[in-house]
Amino acid sequence: MLNSLQSSTALHNGVNMPWFGLGVYKVPVGAVALESVKMAIKAGYRSIDTAALYENEESVGQAIKESGVPREELFITTKVWNEDLRNNSVEEAFETSLRKLGLDYVDLYLIHWPVKDKYKDAWKVLEKLYKEKRVRAIGVSNFNIHHIEDLMSSAEVKPMVNQVELHPLHSQPELRDYCKKQEIQIEAWAPLGQGRLLDHPVLQEIASSHHKSIAQVILRWDIQNEIVTIPKSIRESRIKENANIFDFTLSSSDMEKINALNENQRFGADPDNFNF
Ligand code: NAD
Repeated sequence: MLNSLQSSTALHNGVNMPWFGLGVYKVPVGAVALESVKMAIKAGYRSIDTAALYENEESVGQAIKESGVPREELFITTKVWNEDLRNNSVEEAFETSLRKLGLDYVDLYLIHWPVKDKYKDAWKVLEKLYKEKRVRAIGVSNFNIHHIEDLMSSAEVKPMVNQVELHPLHSQPELRDYCKKQEIQIEAWAPLGQGRLLDHPVLQEIASSHHKSIAQVILRWDIQNEIVTIPKSIRESRIKENANIFDFTLSSSDMEKINALNENQRFGADPDNFNF
């Protein structure tokens, strides 16, 4: 049931992951991260998406502690950065993330980018952490179909999640179909196109017809498409606005109009050609 911020999808191993969460990319460590994550949890968010790269795991961890919400009701994702794949230090990186977060497990641990010739070894470490129950689910990020196929040729555990750039201008229909068949939950990063989709005329027309904002329409389109979504904001009004999407439904004609906007336009890096 998709009727509240706490609604969740069952991953293929049975672990429940909220459809909706807060992204914290570029949120500075310290008061801003602490207060925005606490605000989100107070507003009903239960899922937080961070990464070693974001350098704000300490603040996310502090917010979790200060939130007053029991740890087991929250769903915390973090990711291992590319350098640790290249240095074969994935397990150490995991320990560092866990220490910074102040947690004894994370809900979802992701390989941040498919570093060539390295992600399969990294996956072995994630599988070990999973078997040791230090993480409730493991997954990948920025993996195209061929990366997943390659990974699965030597994997024991199939990834539970693939987090990729996904928004109306880059709606990834083939990857979504593939992941659905494989029971890999797709998750959208930059769901709002990092703020660059918020004056689109087609989206504006649909938003006006529902008395909603463009951001709300896009995020509703995500969850109606069974895409986990993690918009980022540090402002209380937007954190609340983004989550206020459970009181309206996009019609199939609205959905089709948004589906038709796909131009395969990325705002972020290309997983087949990145230089970091
Ligand atoms: P986003 O699409 O969530 O856009 C965020 C920006 O949109 C904000 O900075 C704000 O300026 C604006 N915004 C948010 N809500 C708004 C509203 N209601 N009205 C007007 N403007 C609004 O972009 P993102 O932060 O890049 O992506 C979301 C999350 O995905 C990140 O925070 C991070 O957790 C994750 N992410 C993962 C990867 C990856 O490689 N796995 C890459 C980028 C981001």
